[in-house]
Amino acid sequence: MNAEIISVGTELLLGHTINTDAAFVARELSAIGVNLLYACTVGDNAGRLRAALEEALGRSDVVITTGGLGPTDDDLTKETIAAVAGVPLALHEDSLRRLEEYFRGRPPMGENQRKQAMLPEGCTPFPNDIGTAPGCGVRTAAGKIIIMLPGPPSELVPMLQRYVVPFLSGAAHAVIHSSMIRTFGLGEGSGALKIADLTDAANPTAATYAKENEMFVRVTARAESEEEAEALCRPVVEEICRRYGDVVYGVDVENLESVVVALLRERGLRLATAESCTGGLVAKRITDVPGASDVFGTGFVTYANDAKTRLLGVAASLLEAHGAVSEPVARAMAEGARKASGSDLGIGITGVAGPGGGTPEKPVGLIYIALSAGDETFVRRMTPPGRIHGRGWLRERAASTALDMVRRYLCDLPLEPAAPPSPATPLGT
Ligand code: ATP
Repeated sequence: MNAEIISVGTELLLGHTINTDAAFVARELSAIGVNLLYACTVGDNAGRLRAALEEALGRSDVVITTGGLGPTDDDLTKETIAAVAGVPLALHEDSLRRLEEYFRGRPPMGENQRKQAMLPEGCTPFPNDIGTAPGCGVRTAAGKIIIMLPGPPSELVPMLQRYVVPFLSGAAHAVIHSSMIRTFGLGEGSGALKIADLTDAANPTAATYAKENEMFVRVTARAESEEEAEALCRPVVEEICRRYGDVVYGVDVENLESVVVALLRERGLRLATAESCTGGLVAKRITDVPGASDVFGTGFVTYANDAKTRLLGVAASLLEAHGAVSEPVARAMAEGARKASGSDLGIGITGVAGPGGGTPEKPVGLIYIALSAGDETFVRRMTPPGRIHGRGWLRERAASTALDMVRRYLCDLPLEPAAPPSPATPLGT
């Protein structure tokens, strides 16, 4: 099933709003095995929207529009879709009831608000559980499907997940199962090469994605039942995990931090952090995980030298002799965090996140990451990447490296990936 997205809104064309809806729709479609072929953006103009819709329907099975459903005059999507599908708008009683419910206890609903309950005749309505404008799915005489969604992401996301995904899966007369393999320490280039023979297959499909500092592979199969689709995915997932080895931190898991929290909980251990250049990012990511208090109680942000000494007991002489960005200081920070908090494990991170502050000896991107555990303290040295990365990238990379070191330690794996670092995401050691 081929699809395309038409994003409606002049504010998108002007660059005032970033098109996160298209990105979200694209991800959700690929997850259910729908191939996205095109995506375009049209301003609030009925003529141009009509032309875009007609062109899209000429080449795709499904066309998804976002935006332009509200009560104002520039919201033209619904009328245009009805005209293109050749059906009138008709009052949808259930949507009107939901609107009346929404306006109970608020200023009275105006005629323009009531208009939102008018939908293309014969469509499948998608309730708006957050706002007012319902979406819908319309089948054209030629058997194509138009899906109409509201613009605000807070409304679009639940509508897509709750109503559109089941609708499209039903229309495809198939059940879709997909699994996500998550890795850290592998670049997309080398990751894709290792599984090139598997990404050519049609069912299941395997597609690689790179995001921030991580690389993912989504394996998706289509079959008549969930069990069959899952059975098609399983051997491919196992083969990819076998080829990637210990850079795989999980399959169908939320993220690296949730894996680390689960591992710490399983082993009954507590972690503390001492962060300089990451400014608390590791602590933030760990505490993003619900229930993190079982395994995490203390995070120090020690940006200044005297804070490192005062709070973590890093010797002033050590700072003097080696500088704040050094292996001994990272080590002392990890040990200090662990000791000061009475935790089982301690992380210490110190580095130059840039853009200024680099020197030939200690360039931007040089970051030391230490893990104190058992009787040992391990340190990894992240060297400046070959290409220019921003402060945010370096900090995220350092935080992920620290989390991955904890994962590796808890799983009895070497603390550094054995796979060669890819040119896209070089990792110094
Ligand atoms: P409303 O009922 O709020 O008018 P709508 O369906 O008519 O909803 P628009 O008027 O097109 O949607 O957009 C409303 C707001 O939703 C925009 O101001 C913008 O903040 C957000 N929005 C619209 N389209 C997108 C998009 N493609 N990506 C992200 N945000 C969007």
